[in-house]
Amino acid sequence: MHEKCGVVGIALEDRDAARPLYYSLYALQHRGQESAGIVTHDGFQQHSHVEMGLVGDVFGPGDLESLNGPNGIGHVRYPTAGSVDSCCAQPFSVSFKSGSLGLSHNGNLVNADEIRDELAGLGHAFTSDGDTEVIAHDLARNLLEADLVRAVKRTMSRIHGSYALTIMHDDTVMGVRDPEGNRPLCIGELEDGYVLASESAAIDTLDGELVRDVEPGELVVLHDDGTGYDSYQLVEQENTAHCFFEHVYFARPDSTIDENLVYEVRRELGRALWDESGVESDVVLPVPDSGRAFASGYAEAAQDQGADIEFAEGLMKNRYVGRTFIMPTQDERERAVRLKLNPIKSTIEGKTVTIIDDSIVRGTTSTQLIELLKDAGAEEVHVRIGAPEIISPCYMGIDMATREELIAADRTTEEIRDDIKADSLSYLSIDAIAETLGEGHDDLCLGCVTGQYPYDIDGEETDREVDRPVIGDQTIEADD
Ligand code: 5GP
Ligand code: MG
Repeated sequence: MHEKCGVVGIALEDRDAARPLYYSLYALQHRGQESAGIVTHDGFQQHSHVEMGLVGDVFGPGDLESLNGPNGIGHVRYPTAGSVDSCCAQPFSVSFKSGSLGLSHNGNLVNADEIRDELAGLGHAFTSDGDTEVIAHDLARNLLEADLVRAVKRTMSRIHGSYALTIMHDDTVMGVRDPEGNRPLCIGELEDGYVLASESAAIDTLDGELVRDVEPGELVVLHDDGTGYDSYQLVEQENTAHCFFEHVYFARPDSTIDENLVYEVRRELGRALWDESGVESDVVLPVPDSGRAFASGYAEAAQDQGADIEFAEGLMKNRYVGRTFIMPTQDERERAVRLKLNPIKSTIEGKTVTIIDDSIVRGTTSTQLIELLKDAGAEEVHVRIGAPEIISPCYMGIDMATREELIAADRTTEEIRDDIKADSLSYLSIDAIAETLGEGHDDLCLGCVTGQYPYDIDGEETDREVDRPVIGDQTIEADD
């Protein structure tokens, strides 16, 4: 299960957290449209409301009223193709001997099955096959024998994979970021409290200030009374494995992730795309909305260098059609592209056109668009892509497709060009991504574009020395 999701956690001085949590989830809706949920704590007990659907549909006024308490966590979950299993909607919550626990998870564990088998053998009963429940049970078990910080540390030493978590133990709200910093998580300050969120746009929505990113391997514990937070660097690791795809596609352009404003990153990548493989044409068109920032950077660089290229909105998007990716069959996906995008004939007819998108996954969007543009009278259609060829699946939380579905998995760029019927096609280099993000290859997760992963995944290769935890014959120790 590859889930890319949004998480949030809030501790306030003296008002209910439900509304700010609800607004934050709205701000993070792009990270998941399948289910939404909030769990709060009023000092005595947990309150929970989790359902399938969009944030605006899941919570009615009465629901927010009943979510009492100044502390809480929230979650939006991304749909995986065809799945409508309410089992995996979050936050996940449990009560156990030493209190209540709520968990919101963005990411994907590589060794969840091993830990689940071990804990099941020790008597834990699982209600889903999701990895979030595995983290919850492991943490619950550790909390029986250790204090909060050591229990979290112990769980972190056992789970392998990507995770940005917001956790609530009784009324204490915490955030944890995996030692590789694969998925984003940041801290914000409000007038009367603190917030942890996948993206800073959620903090902006609450009129808060971004304090900083949660560090890879760090645990941040918000004070129950909303007056501050404590930080514990629980795991130190030499290299990070930040997901570059957050910057390329997934995050909101108005979010700042690992100190980079996503919009500026995308514009820089667009400039680099022109530098690497710019092509003369009459007009540059963004594929809305994901290609927009790339296209503006690309066109700007072209114009800076004297190219006579017009930047235009040649494709109109029907904003009521969801992301095409979630369509389960290829036929539906093709239909959805036509539903979603319609050309503006006057900007296209009789012209040579370059379209810019962030990425090609299956090739559906570009194939359909090129046909559409040629039907609308384009003389040539060139395609420039703001990411490298995606050749391998993502195991870390971006539900991208299987290897068989990836158009670039077994084809050369020239073969893809021929497949999608473009007049020319170029992708951005991995070096341009690393340079723009200001990070070395060994601080990024490049699994989907190199086939080499920063984690030990069954059947895949790694790009570094990885210590996959040994699970099975361990006793739980309080003092490590
Ligand atoms: P394709 O049509 O080639 O299968 O997918 C490419 C399009 O999907 C691009 O426009 C890109 O913005 C978008 N895209 C890229 N990655 C993802 C993803 O993980 N999920 C969704 N929903 N769309 C994606
Ligand atoms: Mg797109």
